[in-house]
Amino acid sequence: MALRVQKFGGTSVADIERISKVADRVQKAHENKDQMVVVLSAMAGVTNNLISLAGQASENPDKRELDVLLATGEQTTAALMAMMLKSRGLKAKSFLGFQAGIHTDHMSGKARIREIDSQNLRQALDEGNIVVVAGFQGADEQGDITTLGRGGSDTSAVAIAASLNADVCEIFTDVDGVYTTDPRICPKAKKISRISYDEMLEMAILGAKVLQIRSVEFAKKYNVPVHVRSSFNEEEGTMVVNESEDMESPVVSGVTCDLNEARITFKRVPDQPGISAKVFGALADAGISVDMIIQNSRTGGETDLTFTVTMDDFNRAMEISEKVADQINAGEIRTATEIAKISVIGLGMKSHSGVAAVMFKALAEENINIRMISTSEIRISCVILAKYAELAVRTLHAAFGLDKEQ
Ligand code: ADP
Ligand code: ASP
Ligand code: MG
Repeated sequence: MALRVQKFGGTSVADIERISKVADRVQKAHENKDQMVVVLSAMAGVTNNLISLAGQASENPDKRELDVLLATGEQTTAALMAMMLKSRGLKAKSFLGFQAGIHTDHMSGKARIREIDSQNLRQALDEGNIVVVAGFQGADEQGDITTLGRGGSDTSAVAIAASLNADVCEIFTDVDGVYTTDPRICPKAKKISRISYDEMLEMAILGAKVLQIRSVEFAKKYNVPVHVRSSFNEEEGTMVVNESEDMESPVVSGVTCDLNEARITFKRVPDQPGISAKVFGALADAGISVDMIIQNSRTGGETDLTFTVTMDDFNRAMEISEKVADQINAGEIRTATEIAKISVIGLGMKSHSGVAAVMFKALAEENINIRMISTSEIRISCVILAKYAELAVRTLHAAFGLDKEQ
């Protein structure tokens, strides 16, 4: 008897008909004697609608109450699913995040799971129930409801799979698996049958929203085999697993695009020790993480300092930047929000040189100007204007041979 955690995303539970299809699949696995934990997202569009309602209720919605509101999306689908399974004569029980023992920190809207006390879930499974858990939510020390950030149901599922030591965590979504790039942007994208945690992590960090970043971190840390697959067919999807020796390591295995960043430039910053510490210290104190950083050297004892933050943090980052700019006597601040970060990722980069040159040449041939560059052992990222994002993705996908049948 295997223990399977199955997570279904928003499009997979978009209406009653689709929830019923999910119930069919769960029922089948249960009849095969597998123990089942089903983790659900809210119906497609519901989380966005709730955010918009909150915006109508208050200009700056209180974070605690926003989490109470957002968690209702997943509460709805979990209850509907459990009801449906019970009406088919199956034993099932729904759990909200806190009932499932999901303890988080208190960063409303982007809480991190600290630990899972899986006693309730374990007991319900032992009693023969199909366990249905509302994804995307937990509770902090005070018992306040928290949510895990957009796409957080992936993380709920993988963390629950880890805590129950499940045999597999299946992520059912609206694509057949993890592709070489977003199949909605590049029709030539190919499904990857196996990908390492490290590559998947980079892809998630760099904008492939098919899995939430934290879910891949959990999977890697606790060695949870994750199977990303379609909820609309029975085909095998993508296994996300430990890097193994027989795994092919193409130089570039994926291309990603992230439109969710903004650039802030401090012009004419005094070129002195402690300046960067002041700027980035103030941002860090506000819980804002900075992604790329570039500092140009200049003559005359001044430099330009450029960095990127996520769009969600942009307004707060600007408030802080303006204050700090005054304190450090910087010149003006310039911003760009219509930007895209395009990245190529591959384990094979560790042992290959010249990847950056291929990337820059391909972009140059399309007349796409590169604004910022950053690299790590297994990826290269370039910031470009957002209007060229899709062209850049398709160009790089072709340039690194990913268009070809593998
Ligand atoms: P769900 O609602 O099931 O959680 P998401 O919308 O969060 O689904 O994630 C699935 C989407 O991720 C796909 O529809 C696809 O457009 C997008 N995506 C981006 N990059 C990739 C990739 N490399 N492979 C597969 N899907 C990707
Ligand atoms: N419903 C949440 C969202 O739309 C969480 C999720 O679907 O994973 O982001
Ligand atoms: Mg998702």
